Amino acid sequence: MPAKPPGETGAGKPGAKPCPICGKPASGATLPFCSPRCRDVDLNRWLKGSYVIPGKDGEEDAEDQVARMLEDAGLEKVRVVPLVPDARAKGPGLFVATGEKAKKESQ
Ligand SMILES: [Zn+2]
Repeated sequence: MPAKPPGETGAGKPGAKPCPICGKPASGATLPFCSPRCRDVDLNRWLKGSYVIPGKDGEEDAEDQVARMLEDAGLEKVRVVPLVPDARAKGPGLFVATGEKAKKESQ
């Protein structure tokens, strides 16, 4: 039988995951962090908003963008309806956009 590939984690016990803050092997009551200090560092990052939690705000911005583009193109009464209500969906959303072409009467 072939031996284990050399790429496996050599440091620490098997199953020990590195601390996400400093990279040391984490263990004990402070998992997944190596120490209470690193746990506090992570908590502070959350409190300061360093971590961005994906929400629904992006969808509304995209809708406004589409509506503005259509209005810039000369359409009136622009309605933008999202097709994908799944909040977990990522990437560009799908919309149905309707509008009326502004009539230009010759003067
Ligand atoms: Zn650490």
